[in-house]
Amino acid sequence: MFLKDIISRSEAKTAGIKRYFTGNRCKHGHISERKVSNGECVDCSRAGTAAWAVKNTEHVREYKIKYRSDKKHEIRAYEAKYRIDNLDNVRIYQAKYFKKYYAYNREKLLNYQDGYRADNGVKVKGYAAIYRATPEGHAIRLKHTSKRRALKRGHEINWTNEDHENVKRLFQEAARLELQTGVKYHVDHIIPLSRGGDHHPSNMQVVTAAYNMTKGSRTEEEMRKRAA
Ligand SMILES: [Zn+2]
Repeated sequence: MFLKDIISRSEAKTAGIKRYFTGNRCKHGHISERKVSNGECVDCSRAGTAAWAVKNTEHVREYKIKYRSDKKHEIRAYEAKYRIDNLDNVRIYQAKYFKKYYAYNREKLLNYQDGYRADNGVKVKGYAAIYRATPEGHAIRLKHTSKRRALKRGHEINWTNEDHENVKRLFQEAARLELQTGVKYHVDHIIPLSRGGDHHPSNMQVVTAAYNMTKGSRTEEEMRKRAA
């Protein structure tokens, strides 16, 4: 443990510091800093807060829920940024722990999910919408809808793992650009599916949403002719 400099309450107050340190034990035996505001030992205060939290779990739960709800935009933005900045770590972490945890607790998790869905239908839909808005959620959804479309046309799609990775990268790139610029980006089919283009990374590009909307079902060549 490291020894702090002795500073009296009045010296700390004069210096505008919130804590002082006498070097003496408090009545509960801590050799800790004390608060200038009320003279309370910092460790006693911490212990008091912890004891209070144990007796008031409901209140703490409500406080946490309120905090998360009040700050939901900040929290969501922070989490999204964290995931993008730490993509590799998040992947490794998920791969390392999630499968194991899921395998051990499958029954419990599935039961919990069913019960949760029944009680929180609206909320679940909200989470699903948030997930769909993430690059990965978007990639998966697009994959499914496009697969359905392609199958209708009688095409079979066989993506390799590398194809999946490449498409994920395109959506990550779109998300990154969106964060950096504040402008919405889409992943676009260079030759539109409706014009016989493949739903395959080789036929996909990152463009601004505005460009994508203007482009509609035109090809790049038609767009160039239109601009000329
Ligand atoms: Zn104490």
